[in-house]
Amino acid sequence: MAPINRPEKARTSTFLPAGHDHIQCQRQALRAAEQQCQLDKVRLTPLRREVLELIWQNHRPVKAYDLLDRLKVNHPGAVPTTVYRALDFLLEHDLVHRLQSLNAFIGCGTPGDPHRGQFLICRQCGTVAELQNTDLHQQITEQAAGLGFQVDNETIEIFGACADCQRT
Ligand SMILES: [Zn+2]
Ligand SMILES: [Zn+2]
Ligand SMILES: [Zn+2]
Repeated sequence: MAPINRPEKARTSTFLPAGHDHIQCQRQALRAAEQQCQLDKVRLTPLRREVLELIWQNHRPVKAYDLLDRLKVNHPGAVPTTVYRALDFLLEHDLVHRLQSLNAFIGCGTPGDPHRGQFLICRQCGTVAELQNTDLHQQITEQAAGLGFQVDNETIEIFGACADCQRT
């Protein structure tokens, strides 16, 4: 987990804005990842970067073995451990999130921000949007602490239908 180094107001992201420029979005995410690695004083090696780029192909969570298939296009010799090692690194530095219920991974666009991961997951198209509601995090932390419970994983996964899928 990245250190929580600055207070942040509750912020709720919208679902993917209509016609959003994903090339730009992917580029921004990779830039944010590079900055995060500089802060953490670790190296985003070409392979780690490539795995992250493959995860950012779209906003749908990807399973490790699908990621391996994507990686094999340029690296025919890639094996599962290649992917798992890269994923471990990306998870450790908050560059990706693991969605437990889907056993899949999604890129994080704001790795430096103190947040725990609240996700809206569309059942139909599989698109995922990340909410960053620090109030919710605060409430969970306080209420859990009130019960003497120590939270170590606070990922919230919310399923439903995105606006596009509701229209069709
Ligand atoms: Zn995008
Ligand atoms: Zn995130
Ligand atoms: Zn959808």
